[in-house]
Amino acid sequence: FAKQHRRGGTVVFSAEHATQLRKVALVEQELRQADLDSEMSLAFQPIVDTTQRRIVAFEALARWHNPTLGMVDPATFIDIAERCGLINLLTEVLLRKALAFARACPPDIRIAFNLSTLDITSKGALARIIGITQTSGVAPHRIDFEVTETAIINDFDQAREALYALKALGVQISLDDFGTGFSSLSRVHQLPLDKIKIDRSFVTNIEAGQHGRAIVRSIANLCVNLNVACVVEGVETQAQLGILRSLGCDLMQGYFFQRPVSADQALGLLENGIAAFAPAPAESAPAA
Ligand code: C2E
Ligand code: MG
Ligand code: MG
Ligand code: MG
Repeated sequence: FAKQHRRGGTVVFSAEHATQLRKVALVEQELRQADLDSEMSLAFQPIVDTTQRRIVAFEALARWHNPTLGMVDPATFIDIAERCGLINLLTEVLLRKALAFARACPPDIRIAFNLSTLDITSKGALARIIGITQTSGVAPHRIDFEVTETAIINDFDQAREALYALKALGVQISLDDFGTGFSSLSRVHQLPLDKIKIDRSFVTNIEAGQHGRAIVRSIANLCVNLNVACVVEGVETQAQLGILRSLGCDLMQGYFFQRPVSADQALGLLENGIAAFAPAPAESAPAA
């Protein structure tokens, strides 16, 4: 069963690789049998406007709890779903859940939903996504569909056409993980984008020095010039927040503000606000 690696003509069997392959096969087998509607859920992570100090949107993030495997990491099961032909069905199940959550939110809160490449390059899948969105009762202007740069590069013309079809619904389009896919700027310019999400790998470098900051500043400037909004992903510290503000970034998402939470907890955050924006307790306040 173990895959053979060829290195300089020598066949190498790696025990580690074999274990990995067995794990993938096991996950795939469970995924094929899974009751997607009951096993799949969404976690919601706030996207905040740091100038208004409030939540403006939630990104819906897939979570899979399988009775045999326990929790499976989304990077793992999304990839496997794409490779075994289950992604379109999974997307439909998750989109219905995301839109149900959007209906439970106040109308000024947006919902961001991740689409896979294969969701937009399949005409049938795209048509079903459009149908689900149109009949959801959620105003389309509240919805962001997130697509990654790599998704667009692989099949540019078809992806662009699909994005225009989605845009025609009145939804907004976000380019996710920006900066990781090496897409040419002339191509980015041809897409009907409303938002660019700066990948969190760039945030990690902004405290190290001028170079990391220069990159984020250039992307932020690019967004201004393209007339699209800019969201920074993966903000983990107060220091990063401060630097990003000085670079002209207002919309942010990351553990510093809030980790992804359940639908109920997310609605609670709208009621109570998030801790990162709570006013600092007065020094003279009596101890509770
Ligand atoms: P993404 O769309 O870029 O989502 C952001 C990921 O970064 C999430 O991981 C989130 O939990 C994580 N994150 C947010 N803030 C921070 C932070 O401050 N620090 C760190 N270290 N991480 C942070 P998650 O939930 O594990 O999702 C991973 C990826 O899986 C997503 O990346 C997305 O590409 C994919 N994915 C998740 N849900 C779906 C889905 O419903 N459909 C599709 N097609 N892909 C999905
Ligand atoms: Mg995303
Ligand atoms: Mg992202
Ligand atoms: Mg990312």
